[in-house]
Amino acid sequence: MTRSLRHLLLISAAFTLSCESQPIPPSSQTAPTVVTPEPRVVIFLIDGIRWQDSFGDPTHAHIPGMWNDLRPQGALCSNFRNLGWTLTNPGHGSILSGVWQFIANDGSQRPANPTLFEYYRKQKSAPAADVLLVSEKPKIDAVAYSTDPAHGAAYGAAVDFTNASDFDTYDALIARLQSDRPHFVMASFSEVDLHGHAGVYSAYLRAIEVVDSLAVLTWNYLQSDPQYVGRTTMIITADHGRHDDAHGGFQNHGDTCDGCQHIPCMALGPNIRAGYAVTTLYTQRDLCTTVGSILGVATPQSQGVRMGEIFVPIQTGVEN
Ligand SMILES: [Zn+2]
Ligand SMILES: [Zn+2]
Repeated sequence: MTRSLRHLLLISAAFTLSCESQPIPPSSQTAPTVVTPEPRVVIFLIDGIRWQDSFGDPTHAHIPGMWNDLRPQGALCSNFRNLGWTLTNPGHGSILSGVWQFIANDGSQRPANPTLFEYYRKQKSAPAADVLLVSEKPKIDAVAYSTDPAHGAAYGAAVDFTNASDFDTYDALIARLQSDRPHFVMASFSEVDLHGHAGVYSAYLRAIEVVDSLAVLTWNYLQSDPQYVGRTTMIITADHGRHDDAHGGFQNHGDTCDGCQHIPCMALGPNIRAGYAVTTLYTQRDLCTTVGSILGVATPQSQGVRMGEIFVPIQTGVEN
């Protein structure tokens, strides 16, 4: 019997029991929890993409795939921000821990608070291969686990930094999905940031177009794989943006200007609203709490809030 079938049968048995022994009182104010068997989450992170060059561009010229194919299927947050350090390792670490990580950006310092990788593995007794961190930038290895005394290396992510391009990162991601079936993945695509720093705007835009197509391919892959379809939430976001034109322009990043802080965040998945626009301010810290809630793991040190607006409202069938 497969794990998922066992899981379904257990849920079914528990539901039957609760119906027989504990009818829900009509006055109950408690909303039921939507249970997705074996939920999975893939964070598709685009390193250093500005809002204004992607979803915030009125023409959406460089993200035709995400705009035309994915946005109608998902919830797009138009006021999503990095309000910590707008640098690579701090941005990745803040998403993973739910705490603003003011850590070194050269890979020499780990987060002090547990990452989602560690929360997941410890609470689910999951092996390393069940959580994956894949990128082109080896320094991101610093966020594979934290220095939290109750977590740390024993609960860290499987990692792969052998990739030389976003195409390689995509191939590594798909290969790992097929071989290890991880439940939680952060795939970080570096080329937009690398081309931004190189300073050629047309090449930076071209890198956005490439990663746009890879986001669509990733979502389509998840819909084609029986292990992932119907139970996987994909979140497209960034670690930081880049300076807006009033603060130095696209080449660099790292301060508190709007260009550096304002980044994309779009979610797609079984309980996510489709074609829905969220204008509420959410931040990277909120992703940790939100992903934890989807995966069914507690994230006690996260200072974020659950991004409730992205989810389909639950029909309780109870008139209050
Ligand atoms: Zn970065
Ligand atoms: Zn800036």
